[in-house]
Amino acid sequence: MSRPKVAFFDFTCCEGCQIEFTNYGDVAFLELLKHVDVVEFREAMSEKTTDPIDIALVEGSFTREADRAKLESVRERAKIVIAYGQCATTAGINALKNHQNDYKEFVYGDDAGQANLASQKALPISAAIKVDYMAYGCPVNKYEVLQIIAHLLHGKEPVIPNYPVCVECKRRETVCRYDEADHCMGQVARAGCTAPCPAEGIPCEACRGFVDQPNIRALEKVLVERAGFSQKRAAEKALMFTANSLEATQ
Ligand code: SF4
Ligand code: SF4
Ligand code: SF4
Repeated sequence: MSRPKVAFFDFTCCEGCQIEFTNYGDVAFLELLKHVDVVEFREAMSEKTTDPIDIALVEGSFTREADRAKLESVRERAKIVIAYGQCATTAGINALKNHQNDYKEFVYGDDAGQANLASQKALPISAAIKVDYMAYGCPVNKYEVLQIIAHLLHGKEPVIPNYPVCVECKRRETVCRYDEADHCMGQVARAGCTAPCPAEGIPCEACRGFVDQPNIRALEKVLVERAGFSQKRAAEKALMFTANSLEATQ
């Protein structure tokens, strides 16, 4: 029996989630490679494929209408499409530009009019094609990705967490950032990362986006009352990795 074909495709992003996949070096990843053929993966190999694929991991946001045909081609060829990383699931950090004016001039100055800088609003890939599963994070949690692929190969439905990072943080018995005179967004951030940031003494910035129907007003209230944020800063804080998913909840 032929082995399942897995391919990586990238759109608007830093490709850090592909790089993350090359960072395994452990037994679990090498074991995976015994069971699948990776047939396209720009960060690790030069081969490309136009053949049917079993699992497509699609990285990056949909920011140019010109990318729609390529996304549709991936969808037509793939049995399963996974939005791979936060740029693909919610438009991630790319969505910051959706809330800025003159961002090209700010970055590129007099060269802002270059044709290769043309782009539209940053959107998740689900704005262009049907997505079957989400692998959240900036970058993705490589062990979660391995688990999703393993479940799919075994015909099981992957379980994607829809509860807050606070749950995983408390499981680790980490002291809350608010008790260290800091701030945190773990109350509404989507779990699945095992809460490494608070464990390292830094706030959760919700790089995996928010749980479904997050209570953003309560988050802002806590940021103001417990962390001393201004109301404006508290409102802006939620935009970093979550701008497009926020639009969907308001
Ligand atoms: S989700 Fe983050 S690490 Fe992954 S491609 Fe986007 S910006 Fe890079
Ligand atoms: S540190 Fe953050 S994630 Fe952990 S319990 Fe406090 S608010 Fe929640
Ligand atoms: S703790 Fe928060 S910022 Fe850190 S990896 Fe998890 S979701 Fe991302």
